[in-house]
Amino acid sequence: MSNMSANPYIQTGSADVPNERGYYGEFGGRYVPETIIPALDELTEAYYAAMADPAFQDRLLQLHRTYTGRPTPLTYAERLSQHLGGAQIYIKREDLAHTGAHKINNALGQALLAQRMGKKRVIAETGAGQHGVASATASALLGLECIVYMGSVDMARQQPNVFRMHLLGAKVVPVESGSKTLKDAINEAMRDWVTNVRSSFYLLGSALGPHPYPMMVRDFQSVIGVEARQQILESTGRLPDVAIACVGGGSNAIGLFHGFRQDENVELIGVEAGGHGILSGEHAARFADPNLGRPGVLHGTRSFVLQDSDGQIMNTHSISAGLDYASIGPEHAYLRQSERAYYTLATDDEALAAVQTLAQMEGIIPALESAHAVAEAIKRAPTMPKNSIMLVNLSGRGDKDLDTIMREIKRAPSE
Ligand SMILES: *Cc1c(COP(=O)(O)O)cnc(C)c1O
Repeated sequence: MSNMSANPYIQTGSADVPNERGYYGEFGGRYVPETIIPALDELTEAYYAAMADPAFQDRLLQLHRTYTGRPTPLTYAERLSQHLGGAQIYIKREDLAHTGAHKINNALGQALLAQRMGKKRVIAETGAGQHGVASATASALLGLECIVYMGSVDMARQQPNVFRMHLLGAKVVPVESGSKTLKDAINEAMRDWVTNVRSSFYLLGSALGPHPYPMMVRDFQSVIGVEARQQILESTGRLPDVAIACVGGGSNAIGLFHGFRQDENVELIGVEAGGHGILSGEHAARFADPNLGRPGVLHGTRSFVLQDSDGQIMNTHSISAGLDYASIGPEHAYLRQSERAYYTLATDDEALAAVQTLAQMEGIIPALESAHAVAEAIKRAPTMPKNSIMLVNLSGRGDKDLDTIMREIKRAPSE
């Protein structure tokens, strides 16, 4: 698939993946009930048509400039670089995007597509509420009805985000089945979509799910990598040696990586949630755990999934809600297998320490998810020469996490 895009900041498709059936090597595809296939076909067709239409591209670019606040800046972390004594660290500031994280890039792209397809009703699922807020925001902007499915346990845990969604005019539907968390909310959202497919658009939140979602979300998030590539060339005159991002479902990471896919000398590093450590079993490190992380199917796509020997999906743990998921986007499984990208982990404690280091060295309080990428930067930079360049994607700001950060620092003061 070639780059058909008129908008220089959005890349549609890459040289080799996915194929027309939505596979990234042996990963990806569409593992869904037969009844959803026509809707996925309609969506795929509409997506390609939109991306080939300069008017759609212009509209998205314009909204990113005037509403999202793009391009987001690239910040040279001078004090942190000096403190660590190795690589020069540059931070891509998705924390400065409207709503405080990268999720708006995808939500706005898909909501515009929904509008173009004539769908007046948007369905979304949310765990911690961040994707629900981004979907409610984009829907309010475009005058679309927004229904967000959320586990009742998550609703109790994430009341400020539930209130934000209400303020934005969305309807939040509590899900009482199963464990009453994200995976049950996804099932409910799918059910709604099957029933109301003619009027409704399913706005999926990460580079996951059945084809075309992983591709579409990647393309909408590729604005991160394309901007960052241009910005680092302008600031330093060359490409970075390494680019680092945290990986939950994998959308901010795949968006960053996509900007550098053809630049073979740029090492791509994804950081998973190590929770309390691999040995504890309480983590969300799908690649790092040799016992529990294996290829499998979850929520419509084949990728690496944390599961027991019977194929039961494991409960995961992370200090950051956004990384706390048993599967990972299929393109990451492919990039890892082909050794184009490498994956590592940061524990809860390392992420918490990274929050404090970045706050005190640079005056930036990162989201706990993003702090996993910062933790890897802190480990890796001192091992690199002073004239090397490191790019770190800061996927979001830490305001949403202040309660957790405060509680955890009180429990285990690190500095
Ligand atoms: C949701 C979220 C993530 C994880 O999602 P990805 O799809 O892996 O990017 C990371 N950072 C922040 C700030 C988030 O809100």
